Amino acid sequence: MQLTITKADQLKTNPDDAKLGFGSIFTDHMFNMDYNPQDGWHNPRIEPYAPIDMDPATMVLHYGQAVFEGLKAFRTDSGAIQLFRPKDNFKRLNNSSRLICIPGIDEAFALDALKQLLVIEKNWVPSAPETSLYIRPAIIAMDPFLGVRASDTYRFFIILSPVGAYYAEGFNPVKIWVTKNHVRAVRGGVGEAKTAGNYAASLYAADQAHKQGYTQVLWLDGIEQQYIEEVGAMNIFFVIDDELITPLLSGSILSGITRDTVITLAKMWNLKVAERKISIAEVMEAHASGKLKEIFGSGTAAVISPVGELNYNEKVITVGGGKVGPMANKFYKAISDIQYGKAEDPAGWIEPI
Ligand SMILES: *Cc1c(COP(=O)(O)O)cnc(C)c1O
Repeated sequence: MQLTITKADQLKTNPDDAKLGFGSIFTDHMFNMDYNPQDGWHNPRIEPYAPIDMDPATMVLHYGQAVFEGLKAFRTDSGAIQLFRPKDNFKRLNNSSRLICIPGIDEAFALDALKQLLVIEKNWVPSAPETSLYIRPAIIAMDPFLGVRASDTYRFFIILSPVGAYYAEGFNPVKIWVTKNHVRAVRGGVGEAKTAGNYAASLYAADQAHKQGYTQVLWLDGIEQQYIEEVGAMNIFFVIDDELITPLLSGSILSGITRDTVITLAKMWNLKVAERKISIAEVMEAHASGKLKEIFGSGTAAVISPVGELNYNEKVITVGGGKVGPMANKFYKAISDIQYGKAEDPAGWIEPI
């Protein structure tokens, strides 16, 4: 398959690195590729960033057959550009696709196309501390058809957005709301897919949490509503005594790459780490007996997000005195240092451009 490249006639003015927010500025070019049953995936191309023309009946608009990914390109002190575990993102994209009947892509080809796009857009990778170029690959159903079935045609695209430091006011703990009234995913569902509908389904509970002054929702399992699953777009870790605990991947939890990075580093550092079922009752009890040391989330956007307060069943607990714990700090620093090339890559995670 031959990748064609069409350059934009006019380039946008790059934003000020120091003032970047999240997800509203896009670069000059994007990657596109189409699928139909006769040709398979075909016509891969890098072209000027532009709207996607769609019939109002396009299936993705009605039935949400869409998957996406999120990863970042980082600029090192020497000016080089590097990706963090991108192969895992394309692998997970294919896994998400399989769960909602989207045909798989060639992962190596997609990574190569992304690298070529990044070469063209290299000036868009910011260099201010903690900034990066956020990468959003997505696949959407394109048939103009109103019946409910898997689409025959698809569009795969990759867009890029320079993003600022996640913690603009410093690395501060967030407040988390544990919801009993809503569930995110259930056994046999598509909770482990990064698919559009999961996020639509999370909005109402998130809105309720915001109204109570909480940043994010912590989801319990969809059947017994006892076991902890994950936070909006982050996996979750608990430090109880000297053990690091995260919920087992059960099929309803997104298999986070940052989650895996934390677990792998913890094992390298000989920390006690367990992937197991953990109930909200166990967490509340651990807090009551003084054994709950820290809670933090893990995800590409924030890397590590310390939790300072948890609200469950009208009961509010303060975790780690509402301050950033040593474990959260250690993982945040270690992972960021690897991503920005300040520390050695311990596991073949870095992909240079
Ligand atoms: C993307 C995502 C995560 C985190 O995954 P990373 O690969 O670490 O970015 C966790 N939970 C949900 C629901 C997500 O969408």
